[in-house]
Amino acid sequence: MANAMPWLEVGDRVFTRRYAYLDQQIGLVLGRGEALLIDTRATPRLARELMEDVRSVTRDPVTVAVNTHWHWDHSFGNSVTRPAVIWGHERCRDRLIAEGAAAIAEQAAGDLERRADFEAVVIDPPDRTLTIAADVEVGGRRIELRYLGRGHTDHDVVVRVPDAHVLFAGDLLENDAVPWFGDGYPMDWPATVDRLRSLIDGPVVPGHGTVGGLAFVERQLAEFRVVVTVARRLHAGELDRQAALAAMPYDSASSVEPLDRALAQLRGDLD
Ligand SMILES: [Zn+2]
Repeated sequence: MANAMPWLEVGDRVFTRRYAYLDQQIGLVLGRGEALLIDTRATPRLARELMEDVRSVTRDPVTVAVNTHWHWDHSFGNSVTRPAVIWGHERCRDRLIAEGAAAIAEQAAGDLERRADFEAVVIDPPDRTLTIAADVEVGGRRIELRYLGRGHTDHDVVVRVPDAHVLFAGDLLENDAVPWFGDGYPMDWPATVDRLRSLIDGPVVPGHGTVGGLAFVERQLAEFRVVVTVARRLHAGELDRQAALAAMPYDSASSVEPLDRALAQLRGDLD
């Protein structure tokens, strides 16, 4: 496919494929006779392309898909993976049911080129859910799903393949771009990534951007901590808004949303 790079084997029979659209990483874990997918892409058409791309690695069926979180680019391909079992956090399921139709309408209205693709989305939420932790077996391999606290959303799940030392972080981490805070909890995000850090013993695959390791995670964690510090100082009146925006770790256009979400949290508006 012209818009896709080949699968990268980041651990023993653990792959990720980086798609040009949204610079997104999709994970694939092979077990004996079956396979597990991590996230399902943004539309049924893109999910069908993904399932074709899986065929270049294995003829075994995808029996399990995992949604790292409810966002459209991670879950709108779900229906195409059936009859696979779909795992996700219980709030991933709840939010897809409550907000999925509105998210389809928003994407269809905002992307004329893909309008028909978005209108073809069938909201198909996870049928297996976790609140804190679940282990999933795929062809003799144990895959760990863990909720570590609020961050990019109120229900981000990380996926760890212990026998291959690989961690899929979902959108708790994004490489090569500013993480998206629009649905996020900036005041909680550093503690969550700090817990994530203790699960790292090899490559870390972010939801978007280049595969990294501990150094990349430390760098991103340091930036999340700056957001918290700046927001606290602004909230306490120690900085004015302009100085706060200038002290953020991101360019000024990208700093407004994280700062405002952090302030909303400090005011208690997001609880
Ligand atoms: Zn997301």
